[in-house]
Amino acid sequence: MSTIDDLGDVRGKRVLVRSDLNVPLQDGVIGDDGRIRASVPTINKLADKGARVIVCAHLGRPKGQVKPEFSLAPVAERLGELLGREVRFATDTVGDSARATADALQDGEVALLENLRFEAGETSKDDAERGAFADRLAALAELYVGDGFGAVHRKHASVYDVPQRLPHAAGGLIAAEVDVLRRLTGEPARPYAVVLGGAKVSDKLGVIANLLGKVDRLIVGGGMAYTFLKAQGHEVGNSLLQEDQLDQVRGFIEEAAKRDVDLVLPVDVLAATEFGPDAPHEVVDATAIPADREGLDIGPRTRELFASKLADAATVFWNGPMGVFEFDAFSGGTRAVAEALIASGAFTVVGGGDSAAAVRRLGLPEDGFSHISTGGGASLEYLEGKTLPGLSALED
Ligand code: ADP
Ligand code: MG
Repeated sequence: MSTIDDLGDVRGKRVLVRSDLNVPLQDGVIGDDGRIRASVPTINKLADKGARVIVCAHLGRPKGQVKPEFSLAPVAERLGELLGREVRFATDTVGDSARATADALQDGEVALLENLRFEAGETSKDDAERGAFADRLAALAELYVGDGFGAVHRKHASVYDVPQRLPHAAGGLIAAEVDVLRRLTGEPARPYAVVLGGAKVSDKLGVIANLLGKVDRLIVGGGMAYTFLKAQGHEVGNSLLQEDQLDQVRGFIEEAAKRDVDLVLPVDVLAATEFGPDAPHEVVDATAIPADREGLDIGPRTRELFASKLADAATVFWNGPMGVFEFDAFSGGTRAVAEALIASGAFTVVGGGDSAAAVRRLGLPEDGFSHISTGGGASLEYLEGKTLPGLSALED
């Protein structure tokens, strides 16, 4: 993959940068702005080199329609603050405003186009429709830089088709993300532990299948752990359970045993009477969850067990919170695992949007981890061994 430096002298050139600015937005107020911050270095680097930078990105799922609540306008403002430069905002993606804005840019100036997904062509499954939109996007610029790691698993116009139409390079963020993922799938330092959590085991089946052949320890917490516990024959009460995944999970349990992978499951949980921030709860053994209770976090013995499995690890990949970290009462397990990663001194990678948000919400130091990925789905698909359209398009 070529990098920005391979593009040569970019002064005076219009460079279309595909960033991932898909942040949580409520009534025009940005929640966690981690993705905007992660996009800053590449944009600033290009602007510092005198390029005329046209940033494009998506927000949410407006499904090809102009919906004001999905406007990137608030993001343009925050981006400007973080860049320390003015960001001109185009009120459309490839229309009059976008063309006029691109034409008016001076060397070192930055513009942001309106939400790409206001155009049906961006996400269309029809190659011709997507291609037609890509033609118009590409016409705005002379060079393309792909830096929206969180979108590289999508075969979308701005991710996949535009780089086929313009000389292109990977931005710093994508380069860094790919470096890390290569380390996790290549020859990682051992012991290599993977911690998985989050809501649904079905989201992580591919990752488990692919990583079982590479890891020394697989630690499972969060909502998905209950399908594992049930597969072992334990009752899980009202806890999250995916009945339709039980066979698959039984297969993983056998596979782990066969491959000598240390599969580590919760031994106790915080069992609550209902799903809510103030739900009454108590610690119960993972093998004895009462029928009317649901496990919303891993218990204290499990936190210690997981920490002990991470203490001497050399490489750790963590994806998925250990409990409902959005509720303070059930955030302790996630905090304990995060702290164990920080304390391990291992090469530690956090993947997954909610896991990254949890790190910040819990006030943990981001620089305590070797890398916090900006792309949940993208990093998972990479670890599943899939080819990612946005990466293959950047390779030549
Ligand atoms: P990521 O985005 O990091 O990949 P996921 O999207 O897979 O993580 O899962 C995050 C969600 O899982 C969080 O909203 C969290 O509340 C939920 N979760 C974790 N543990 C449980 C549990 N025991 N019961 C219900 N939900 C859970
Ligand atoms: Mg998530």
